[in-house]
Amino acid sequence: MSKSVRDYIRSIVDFPHEGIIFRDVTTLFADARGFRMAIDQLLTPYAGMRIDKVVGLEARGFIIGGAVAHQLSTGFVPIRKKGKLPGTVISEAYQLEYGEAVMEIHDDALAAGERVLIVDDLLATGGTAGAGITLCRRLGAEVVGCAFIIDLPELGGRRLLEAMDMPVHVLCEFE
Ligand code: IMP
Repeated sequence: MSKSVRDYIRSIVDFPHEGIIFRDVTTLFADARGFRMAIDQLLTPYAGMRIDKVVGLEARGFIIGGAVAHQLSTGFVPIRKKGKLPGTVISEAYQLEYGEAVMEIHDDALAAGERVLIVDDLLATGGTAGAGITLCRRLGAEVVGCAFIIDLPELGGRRLLEAMDMPVHVLCEFE
């Protein structure tokens, strides 16, 4: 039987902490067939839709977002962790298990009314993507969807994003 996107993803036990299983997409990205399959499948729901910009979440969302933007012939916009973008930014904080994190976007990266697609490798609690949606909306953009390679359904990210009226597209799930 031919391999699916999920089959290319490596699981690393006890990274970054004991008890965590890290889902590693570098093995998917490194395989020409796997990488193309993932990008093609990420795009399937958006065929025929107008998308003006692809927004990628740091850091693996940049790799996916660059390929998706090239395929759609759109521009690419990064959302980065606090303090990394050189220009004037707007910031959005979100809750982590312990403490909080902050994501940022250049304040001129999206124009009001632009239709954007947000991409990342993995959806867990939805905190990162939720902050990304809020940042895009604060700039007046319309987020048409969020696409991920992996969903960890037990962590509830999909519910959180759907409660923000956001259609979510995922390629595979892990427990
Ligand atoms: P969330 O904000 O809880 O949904 O976490 C999602 C973010 O954490 C994404 O930017 C992911 O890249 C990263 N992340 C969390 N767990 C993993 C993992 O097992 N593999 C790869 N990335 C992960």
